Amino acid sequence: MIKKFDLDKILSIDCDKCFGLCCVALYFSKSEGFPTDKEVGKPCVNLNNDFRCKVHKDLKKKGLKGCIAYDCFGAGQKVAESTYKRENWRNNPNKRKEIFDVFVVMRQLYEMLWYLKEAYRINKDETMRNNIETEILEIILRTNMDGTSLLNIDINEYRKKVNPLLHITSEGLRKRNYRGSNSKVKRSKMIAGRLDLMGVNLRNKNLVGEDLSGALLIAADLRESDLSYVDVLGADFRDADLNGANLEKTIYLTQGQVNSAKGDTKTRLPKGIKKPSSW
Ligand code: SF4
Repeated sequence: MIKKFDLDKILSIDCDKCFGLCCVALYFSKSEGFPTDKEVGKPCVNLNNDFRCKVHKDLKKKGLKGCIAYDCFGAGQKVAESTYKRENWRNNPNKRKEIFDVFVVMRQLYEMLWYLKEAYRINKDETMRNNIETEILEIILRTNMDGTSLLNIDINEYRKKVNPLLHITSEGLRKRNYRGSNSKVKRSKMIAGRLDLMGVNLRNKNLVGEDLSGALLIAADLRESDLSYVDVLGADFRDADLNGANLEKTIYLTQGQVNSAKGDTKTRLPKGIKKPSSW
């Protein structure tokens, strides 16, 4: 049933079809790798009148890691083209806030869709695949609603259904493939509920089957490591060194995570994830 939807296409970013929504609608801060501290609804200083980014080619050079890592999963063009039929926030001051709020909802729905698509791809259990498919179809239906209806969605209700599907899928794969008897990862430090692995040396380690979901891997040394069947859902890879690492079978690895990390021609990535041109 979901085969009739080209999910890979739906979930690919196409900034040319968007109105720079992520660069206006969201709050961001300089300390997280954005150009300035910016409040919700204020355009970024680098956003041109034609909704293009003035410094797009130089994001890396300028150290704008937050921009590089950000991924709307295609929610921007969906809001611009489908929900608002190309009405944009500059020409419609009365709708401005609504458009931004809808983008925030749509982005969360698209993010869930992206992870569900991955879970569907890697889970071979038929019952689970049926459950995942049902949830994908349900969310696709919601993404086609009008702006007001989208704002009335209870996102947490969807998360409560989606998260267990993602977790069970990951757990099954990790357990089946876990190779080591002892974890190579020290789990003693946490920051705001996230595993703190900032700057750690995990070079040339067999990490197969580890659960690194949500981990802070900022500037971690993962050179030549094997990250097969490692769950990295929501992990922060900014400046992590992936030179020569094997991520071909890493679970829930996104393009945004890869874009924010360092790598080289020997880094192995899953199908569908592109190697950044700077690698
Ligand atoms: S620097 Fe460019 S990509 Fe980053 S928020 Fe500003 S306009 Fe958007």
